[in-house]
Amino acid sequence: MISSELTSENGHLMIGGVDSVELASKYQTPLVVYDVEEIRNQIRRFKNSFENNNLKYQVSYASKAFATIAIYQVLKQEDVHTDVVSGGELYTALKAGFPAEKISFHGNNKSEEELEMAVDNHVGVIILDNFYEIDLLEKILETKDSKIKVMLRLTPGISAHTHKYDQTGQVDSKFGFDVGSGQATKALQKVLSNKRMELIGIHAHIGSQIFGVEGFVMLVKKMFEIAADWKNNFDYVPNVINLGGGFGISYNDQDEAIRLDVFIKKIAETVKQQAKEKNMNIPEIWIEPGRSIVGPAGFSLYTIGSRKDVPGLTSYVNVDGGMGDNIRPALYQAKYEAVVANKMNDKLTQDVHISGKYCESGDILIDHQKLPDTKSGDILAVLDAGAYGYSMASNYNRNPRPAVVFAENGHDKLVVERESYEDLIKLDRNYI
Ligand SMILES: *Cc1c(COP(=O)(O)O)cnc(C)c1O
Repeated sequence: MISSELTSENGHLMIGGVDSVELASKYQTPLVVYDVEEIRNQIRRFKNSFENNNLKYQVSYASKAFATIAIYQVLKQEDVHTDVVSGGELYTALKAGFPAEKISFHGNNKSEEELEMAVDNHVGVIILDNFYEIDLLEKILETKDSKIKVMLRLTPGISAHTHKYDQTGQVDSKFGFDVGSGQATKALQKVLSNKRMELIGIHAHIGSQIFGVEGFVMLVKKMFEIAADWKNNFDYVPNVINLGGGFGISYNDQDEAIRLDVFIKKIAETVKQQAKEKNMNIPEIWIEPGRSIVGPAGFSLYTIGSRKDVPGLTSYVNVDGGMGDNIRPALYQAKYEAVVANKMNDKLTQDVHISGKYCESGDILIDHQKLPDTKSGDILAVLDAGAYGYSMASNYNRNPRPAVVFAENGHDKLVVERESYEDLIKLDRNYI
């Protein structure tokens, strides 16, 4: 999102038709606010793009970007699937009333308990990652006299690094079955020989913050190559080809947001062309967007407190949150943009560092940000903060995690309470 796309009234930033400055005062800060309509719109953009291309598809939201009861309820309303990667995400989705059959269970080290939980709750599909897991699942299905749908996660030798791609024989990754070395076909044979597992398709995920469609085009071709080989040699044809997530969003004016319709159209064309070339039916295409669904819809609101001017050098504007509610800048130099939510019409007069309140010099949310004149008490809104912020939040320095509010059509609703100091010691036990 770029700041020119924001809406404001009387100089105040509006989110989902609600005055963000009022939200900050009503719920206190730091506060995460989602524009729910933007989440719905993004889901609909994905769905419409597939429908416009007459492709059977499934959009499966990657929970790890933001997983709470409320988001699962919105996803259920919008009739999409979801991926979970832990018993905790699965538990949250089920508690939200999310349909189990629309859940895909991912992960490179699912525990026996997690697999049992998935089988007991009849999740839609388990995405198998390694041989240990196949054996474990086999044992569980045997014991429970049960059946389940599965997919194989492959590492096809393509990885996308935002703007560049590389294609190597073998990928050094902790995820999935390697294609080049024959691990993948071994897994295929193992699963096909098991009557309790129904292999519905193959999966691959090539990266995150992907801006060029070339990586996906390469992936589609590779997946069809594998499918054609398996058809010829093992008489197996996947019904589903799952292309993973990673659709890029623009965090600042250097990232150009991808056009989803253009992206999906290109993927669809390649799928159809490959199916024709390989003389195969067109499979269902699944994707797993996380960031692109919740990222642009989320705002982190902070209150500006102290300020440090380093004479002749620079200034630090300190806010009441930081790496505890958004670790991405500290963890991997993620870039964000911010605005002063109560001064949307003011001229930008200064270039500052936005720093958090945590005891780490690395706790800088934004390295350089142009802002209007600020004073303590102003509300800073970090944009595009909806993905991998709250979901990675911690209690570092024993700071409570923020509250989360959903705003839509001029109404706001608290969907995650702010942690209290009592919550912080809830699990602590006396020693003496
Ligand atoms: C992280 C992940 C996603 C989502 O990635 P985004 O960049 O958030 O779209 C999808 N699938 C798998 C397997 C992942 O690990």
